Amino acid sequence: MSASGILEQTEKMEEESVKQEIERINRIFAMQQKHRHIVAKSSVGERIQKLKKLKQWVESNTEKIHKALYSDFKKSVPETDLTEIFVVTTELNHAISHLKRWMKPKQVSPTVPFLTTKAEIRYEPKGNCLIIAPWNFPFNLTIGPLISCIAAGNTAMVKPSEFTPATSRLMKEMLLEVFAEEEVAVFEGAVEISQALLAKPFHHIFFTGSPQVGKIVMKAAAEHLASVTLELGGKSPVIVDETADLEDAAKKIAWGKGVNNGQICIAPDYLLVHESKKDALLDKIKQNLNNFYGDSKEEKENSSDYARIISTRHHSRLKKMLEDTVNQGATVYAGGNSNAEDNYLEPTVLVDIPEDAPVLHEEIFGPILPVKTYKNLDEVIEYVNAKEKPLALYIFSNSKKNQELVISSTSAGGTCVNDVLTQFLHPNIPFGGINNSGIGNSHGEYGFKAFSHERSVLHHHAMSPLKLLMPPYTDQVKGMIKMLLRFF
Ligand code: NAD
Repeated sequence: MSASGILEQTEKMEEESVKQEIERINRIFAMQQKHRHIVAKSSVGERIQKLKKLKQWVESNTEKIHKALYSDFKKSVPETDLTEIFVVTTELNHAISHLKRWMKPKQVSPTVPFLTTKAEIRYEPKGNCLIIAPWNFPFNLTIGPLISCIAAGNTAMVKPSEFTPATSRLMKEMLLEVFAEEEVAVFEGAVEISQALLAKPFHHIFFTGSPQVGKIVMKAAAEHLASVTLELGGKSPVIVDETADLEDAAKKIAWGKGVNNGQICIAPDYLLVHESKKDALLDKIKQNLNNFYGDSKEEKENSSDYARIISTRHHSRLKKMLEDTVNQGATVYAGGNSNAEDNYLEPTVLVDIPEDAPVLHEEIFGPILPVKTYKNLDEVIEYVNAKEKPLALYIFSNSKKNQELVISSTSAGGTCVNDVLTQFLHPNIPFGGINNSGIGNSHGEYGFKAFSHERSVLHHHAMSPLKLLMPPYTDQVKGMIKMLLRFF
């Protein structure tokens, strides 16, 4: 068969498999629509059992998870343990321990006109939910939200990323073993599959991905007035002031840019350092990168601890961003080497960057760290506030005054003082962005609430004094309404 014949046949087969998957979406969505009422009524004990089953699967299949992540982008075993498996088991353990309290209706105290009533907030499952996940932490960012979705008593249709096929296939296998498809089902595929899912009248959509696709998701959700949680991205600054512990800051920043190859929504995207500390800090960052991955460029490329860029497309995007920035006058302070055959990009630090260079405007999502200096914090605040609100803002400082000034003068999804990334791991704080970096929260109780409707229930009885305020509006009733306005 000729090359064009083979291409035509492959395209036909792909079209056929997309068609079949769309039919499967229609069939399973109808099943989940019927089944959601049963799932919604599940007891705390039943939901905990489901979470325990999921946990058992994860714990007994860690080797399969390591292999899938390595096959997708050469992610090392320790990094998979730390940033994929540990995050998921923490979320599971936390939900298992606290679900009873989360699900319990919360009694609220009455105001004076409601003294004879009883009011409570119940956590009602939203119903049929859709989870769309990205590729950068393919396991943790798919299963994490699913845990909250199950804990809250919903059904789920799950679309992992097409760029991590081995992990997506494994999650399909896992969820088929743990759940019936009328409760949880996985759909592999690219944009066509995502769009077919988004056309369905879900009650809640939990999307993790880029702000651009987040807008498409929100438009699709508006069609059915589905609620959304959007976990998006953007440019997260890291600020190092003149009081910071430079050893500590350098190590943590180098780690934050190197782990997962910098492909993290909350990776420090660019560095703003006080001009008096620039040389010392950059020297230490370079030293730390060498300590982590090797001194020479060959050692770094062969380091088993350093992952790869996910795809050729993203590798070319980053390489072009780097070349364009250098062509515009920036200097490569460290790194800069790459190997397109293996999607390898050395951890790279850039200085003397012209303000209009792409690296200072687009989300980098890779191991490139542009560095800018400042003289006073007002400049920093103005610079950060002129951009979209970031998902994370980091400040390394030993001055409480400077920490407070930066936090109170800027807006960000979350902030970590004297560290990077770890705000993601704390189960008792919300994780989420604001506007361009996201809408809504996840993790722990915040994740449970994202998938729950807070339903108010007000219990009255026949003795309600509010009946005294009903028509006809006699002088006596009018007097009472006036008193109400005056005193309550
Ligand atoms: P992406 O937005 O390209 O894709 C995310 C998901 O959306 C994938 O499953 C993909 O198949 C689907 N998708 C892509 N185009 C679509 C379209 N036109 N219509 C419908 N669905 C579509 O994101 P990505 O490249 O997988 O991940 C990188 C982005 O995700 C970065 O911007 C990063 O900051 C962000 N991110 C955010 C978080 C967070 O928790 N806030 C976490 C990880 C990644």
